[in-house]
Amino acid sequence: MIPIFNSKRQYDQIGAEVEQKVCEVLRSGCYILGPNVKALEEELAKYIGCNYTVALNSGTDALHVALRALDIGAGDEVITTAFTFVATAEAIGMVGAKPVFVDIDPDTFNIDPSKIEEAITPNTKAIIPVHLYGQPCDMDAIMAIAKRHNLKVVEDCCQAIGSLYKGKMVGTFGDIGCYSFYPTKNLGTMGDGGLCTVNDEKLKDRLIALRNHGSMVRYHNDELGLNSRLDEIQAAILRVKARYVDEWNSKRRQKAAYYNKLFAGCSDIQTPKELDNTYCVYHQYTVKIPNRDEVHKMLTENGIGAMLYYPIPLHFQKVNAWLGMGKGSLPVTEKNTECVISLPMFPELTSEEQEIVAKTLISCIEKSKSTACC
Ligand SMILES: *Cc1c(COP(=O)(O)O)cnc(C)c1O
Repeated sequence: MIPIFNSKRQYDQIGAEVEQKVCEVLRSGCYILGPNVKALEEELAKYIGCNYTVALNSGTDALHVALRALDIGAGDEVITTAFTFVATAEAIGMVGAKPVFVDIDPDTFNIDPSKIEEAITPNTKAIIPVHLYGQPCDMDAIMAIAKRHNLKVVEDCCQAIGSLYKGKMVGTFGDIGCYSFYPTKNLGTMGDGGLCTVNDEKLKDRLIALRNHGSMVRYHNDELGLNSRLDEIQAAILRVKARYVDEWNSKRRQKAAYYNKLFAGCSDIQTPKELDNTYCVYHQYTVKIPNRDEVHKMLTENGIGAMLYYPIPLHFQKVNAWLGMGKGSLPVTEKNTECVISLPMFPELTSEEQEIVAKTLISCIEKSKSTACC
């Protein structure tokens, strides 16, 4: 059995250190908004290259609070992609705004900047580009459009901590960047967690107030907020793990390069493409294949933990049915949804395991072709 992700192997590397730090928090008696959250925020601002970060209790809340801080709400439209995790559009709905889905680029799986402008209306307030699978979006093109139309940009970096676009980390281009520390993310904690990156000081203060009941001064509640604090235990765990994230990302890139090599010459398997001048951290290694559903089933039967990210595009989800987007409204997204498959990818994956994955995938595709023609 080769899983898509393995947290146990990572724990073998960092467990002792994590247990020590967690015990320190437990003994300290300080569990909420203490020294670890503050230190984590400073350390990650330095790492990502922004003025401030604000720690929150999930990536979903990071997106939600970011939109609130930018005063996006009822009657507003926010442009994003339908080829993402549901939380991206959920955050737009949570503030009462309408998600407007734009089609993707078939090679990078990210929002296609050439299709953004035709989706802009007088109600458009923001764009949420998603750096899917760790692949940076074309930020120059997106920022130019935002500037031209006076739109805010919230980057969904939940899958892309450490990804670089032209030498700068994602999350530093738009008004706010949103990160998730869900356990399977490239920097994951042992529970839930999230973070916003921000350069503007006023916006940072607003994020801090929103995560804590709309309050800057205790028991003075200036606006409707929420409880979205990251706790000290998760912050302490993340401070340990953040020191390894570059090493882990570089290992992911090595695994991706090895998969590319193993699939070279297989015309049935389209391996991931990277934009020039980017550093992709391969949260997922996702290929396009024929007879995807049948091959996926065969891989599962053969003990390969391949997954579909994502099996249903967001415009076809029941929650978004009110948008009335029928079949064919996002042709590239819909086509990709039918042929993508993500293969086991984590820093501790061995070459031998990758070879088994590759061999099994190639033979399953061959088999699926012979059954398909009878
Ligand atoms: C994981 C993820 C989120 C949500 O993060 P949570 O911490 O699970 O709330 C949002 N967007 C994308 C693209 C993600 O991958």
